[in-house]
Amino acid sequence: MGERPVLVSGNWKMHENHFEALKLIQELAALLRAKPAPQGVEVSLHPPFTSLRSVQTAVETDHLPVALGAQNCHFEERGAYTGEVSPEMLAKLNVAYVIAGHSERRQYFGESDEIVCMKLDAILKAGMVPILCVGESGEERAEGMALAKVAGQLEAALGRRKGEEIARVVVAYEPIWAIGTGVVATPDDAEEMCGTIRDELTRLGGAVAATARVQYGGSVTPENAADLLACANVDGALVGGASLDAAKFHAIVSAAG
Ligand code: PEP
Repeated sequence: MGERPVLVSGNWKMHENHFEALKLIQELAALLRAKPAPQGVEVSLHPPFTSLRSVQTAVETDHLPVALGAQNCHFEERGAYTGEVSPEMLAKLNVAYVIAGHSERRQYFGESDEIVCMKLDAILKAGMVPILCVGESGEERAEGMALAKVAGQLEAALGRRKGEEIARVVVAYEPIWAIGTGVVATPDDAEEMCGTIRDELTRLGGAVAATARVQYGGSVTPENAADLLACANVDGALVGGASLDAAKFHAIVSAAG
């Protein structure tokens, strides 16, 4: 963990209908009341769109120390885009963080670097914080292309932004080979890439850009979280599977202090 504030985010993906979402947030709330997140550690939850309103109501009614997050959004403010949700709609629900460019969206929904960049524009314009996901496949790592892949994704999404704007973005380093596989990056590998990401942010936007938070994501569990989060350039975690279990997610949050 570095000197920046820490963000631990739970990406629920396409899990939890709105009844299940309420149960999960209530379980997590009880755990956070008994043992709050360590000082300087922020928590965001990213339910599916259909559960956002239920989770928002629970968070606001019970004053839960949790920020609301979304998993995706469209880049336009409104229009004839059947099935899409705009950044303004999310901001109106008090969504604070929006994941952009998750590898599952890049892989299954054809999200290009260009679309991810447009989403970042829209999320920032709506006053929310994007969590920009970057990361290499197993093949790219084996071929020694990991750093180049991540640098290219950062350049495409952040290359024409001012340092102050880059500083508002959270970057999530998510090696694709580690997502949902149970194969986690070693703390050394996570630290090496997160440090490289910070160098790249400096190159793109100067010292102020390097103050952006950099999360690690990919098979984070209560067992490996403390070692990953102890790395100097790792400012938090993006958690998939383990965030669906309140006790496991709470243990990961507790390990971030
Ligand atoms: C993710 O979906 O961003 C993720 C990191 O998933 P998991 O924790 O299940 O690997």
